[in-house]
Amino acid sequence: MAENYYDVLGVDKNASQDEIKAKFRELAKKYHPDVNAGSKEAEEKFKEVAEAYEVLSDPKKRQQYDATGSTDFGGGSSGSSNFNWQDFSHFDDINDIFNKIFGGGGGFGSNDTFFGGYSNQPDLDIYIRVNVTLEDAYYGSSKQVKYRRNATCEACKGTGAVNGKLITCPTCHGTGQERVTRGQGFFKVVSVTTCRTCNGRGKIPQTPCPTCKGTGYIPKMENITINIPKGADTNIKLRISKMGNSFGGVTGDLYCVLYVQGNSSIKRSGDNLYIKTSITFPTAALGGEEEIQLFKEKFKLTIPPGTQPDDVLRIKGAGMPHLNSRGSGDLLVVTKLEVPKHLTSKEKELIEELKGEPVKKSWFHI
Ligand SMILES: [Zn+2]
Ligand SMILES: [Zn+2]
Repeated sequence: MAENYYDVLGVDKNASQDEIKAKFRELAKKYHPDVNAGSKEAEEKFKEVAEAYEVLSDPKKRQQYDATGSTDFGGGSSGSSNFNWQDFSHFDDINDIFNKIFGGGGGFGSNDTFFGGYSNQPDLDIYIRVNVTLEDAYYGSSKQVKYRRNATCEACKGTGAVNGKLITCPTCHGTGQERVTRGQGFFKVVSVTTCRTCNGRGKIPQTPCPTCKGTGYIPKMENITINIPKGADTNIKLRISKMGNSFGGVTGDLYCVLYVQGNSSIKRSGDNLYIKTSITFPTAALGGEEEIQLFKEKFKLTIPPGTQPDDVLRIKGAGMPHLNSRGSGDLLVVTKLEVPKHLTSKEKELIEELKGEPVKKSWFHI
């Protein structure tokens, strides 16, 4: 959209000609192509500054600009013929209304912000949810992600115009906004919305690009691979730069919001993982060693003598890797006591023996 000339020069709306001239010299020096070898951005800035100065340094043009905000001075055939005083007579009313409601200052409170301060840029970032298994999060992995976006039209480099030639939007006169008035007389309600002709850009193509029909973007299915980092957790956002929607030559980012799915046998608490293991009565009573399998990993777990059902035994550093630092959480093993359903006669005999006699203390120390 068209920049506010006062903002471009960084001067007050009531700035004197001397102030305008001084500011112009300062900025022109700063952005002059000769001192910004090849910088496209500086070149653009320089043009903007020159354009603003051209208008504001000419009292007649400045007066018209102040009254209308138009950058169109009747040079072309569409200039003065489209100019409609009626259309602009509401401006003071609107500012009055906003001043009364919002107490002036910000927003639309002043003429300065009315033309340049309102951003019509639609949100160009795209958010998509990506499901990840706990194992993917444990080892880290890559995932294919398919989604739809509006990609920059290569034929017109996103401008929407043949040769990139844009003209000031005749509907909004470059402000990117449309004023809709409803009701009559005292109860008139004025609302400001994004201009439907230019979608808020303030400019329209002189000749629309045939490839994208003037929009500057083309709907496209993307199929990309993203890397799931080790230790990934739910609600972590992975930003993929410049893979969002394009509008007016600007491209947003893609955010992949991770959702780490639950696992029926492994529970996560931060970077600690909980897993259950079954142990026999003799192992619980006498102590021993168990092999614990977590995904593709195997860990040795020492069961101390006298381990109780639902005791939690810790294997340090065997849990989920920390996302942004070295090391890992712990693996916590919850012991479950296994009671055999079928016994050999020998086992039966031994257990009968154990049952029949009062438990000898020494039994546990064999
Ligand atoms: Zn417009
Ligand atoms: Zn195009």
